[in-house]
Amino acid sequence: MTDRIEFEGSGSYFVGVTTLGEEFFAISRKASMPAGSKSVGSQPEVRPDPGMDKTSAYSHSEPMCSIKMYPARNGDAFLISSRAPSSVAILIDGGYAATFDQHICDDLGRFAKAGRCLDLVIATHIDADHIAGLLAFFKKNGHATRPNVIGVRHVMHNSIRSLQANSVAGGKQDVSDRDILEEIRRRGYPKPKNKPFTPSEISVREGSSLAALLLGGGYCWNSKDGNMRVDSTGYPVHEINASSRVKVIGPAPARLEALCSWWIRELRRLGFIDKIGKSEKFDDAFEFLCAAKNFSAVAQPGNISYRMHKNRELADAYLPDDSLTNASSISLILEVNSIHLLFLADSWASDTEQALKSLKPSKAPLIFDAIKLSHHGSLRNTSPALLELIDSPRYLISSNGEQHDHPSIEVLKAIVDRPATFSRKLFFNYKTAASRELSAYSSRSKSQFEVHENQVDWIDIDPNNHYA
Ligand SMILES: [Zn+2]
Repeated sequence: MTDRIEFEGSGSYFVGVTTLGEEFFAISRKASMPAGSKSVGSQPEVRPDPGMDKTSAYSHSEPMCSIKMYPARNGDAFLISSRAPSSVAILIDGGYAATFDQHICDDLGRFAKAGRCLDLVIATHIDADHIAGLLAFFKKNGHATRPNVIGVRHVMHNSIRSLQANSVAGGKQDVSDRDILEEIRRRGYPKPKNKPFTPSEISVREGSSLAALLLGGGYCWNSKDGNMRVDSTGYPVHEINASSRVKVIGPAPARLEALCSWWIRELRRLGFIDKIGKSEKFDDAFEFLCAAKNFSAVAQPGNISYRMHKNRELADAYLPDDSLTNASSISLILEVNSIHLLFLADSWASDTEQALKSLKPSKAPLIFDAIKLSHHGSLRNTSPALLELIDSPRYLISSNGEQHDHPSIEVLKAIVDRPATFSRKLFFNYKTAASRELSAYSSRSKSQFEVHENQVDWIDIDPNNHYA
């Protein structure tokens, strides 16, 4: 028997909760489904581009919500689109500049032609593989009042101006301080090694922070002008419309403070002695140094090839992530049309555990309509304890396996090994060594699961089909 979370105002699967917050979740039990064998490689759960439809154009047979997981190589980029009664479009991360140029831009153009806008754009954290596509987007989109691609209502992004209440006292600014900031700015976002670069990739990485583009473009940023932070306590619920909202479950304020402190120390280490204030030059220095830090952190050896530990269990393999930039990830529950999606960015498992425990009224796992696994399915970001708290009929795993054997086979096996009263679908936007191995795997609990590889078209989310 598995418990299923039920939420306000939906059909037969959801009951009785009126507001987000402490009573965000309510539980009711569903009848068990017989367990069976997995099926692999069935037809992807796709439909025509919902971006072509305006709210009223959807028929009853069309899904209430669809998610596109773009081929962002080792990065992340997701577009979420829903139909009436809550027509919503949300972009979470943008992958690389090439991800935007070759995939996202056309979709957004079709949305705009259909009279739609992006209700929300989220830059989950400052990692070039998540943010470079957003730099390309905002660079191309220009000013918020005259968008070249599509209108944007709101942006979430934590820059240094968002994290600092006040300027930090320092010594006297001199020429070398200006040189230090200019040198950081000149370097821009780090350039990954061993990868071909398109001209647009180089152009977006050099000298333009997302903060500068948002300020220059007059976008509504973190409620207003970017000076407010997005975290699990200060900015817990973002209302999109009457039936759609985002509940921010991470980062915890302490994670942002740790990142901020690290960055200040880093500036001082480079020789900067002046006051640190709120200005675009500091926004630039923050983004570029954070991205460089994360780049070097993830490049460190530590994850050993899964082939060497083929039969290792997640409980033995799990090693908590220690990247401060990953810990600063904006992770969230998106509620749209009574569908609940868990997007974990590259967050730390321990932080997500803590946030979800406060929402969990019983020992039964929280069941979401879809879960985007943290950090591309890394075994450093999904713990056995987290898997005891959450489950879903759909998992989204975004990685081409280029770095660190993402996703980790230990995580994938641990997901499908749990008993369940429903069949799980694991969607991969690429075929990787781990997805191939999972395809040949049999769940220890005999739970049903399907492996969908190269899933880069729309994935339908309809709560009425959970147990189909
Ligand atoms: Zn990532």
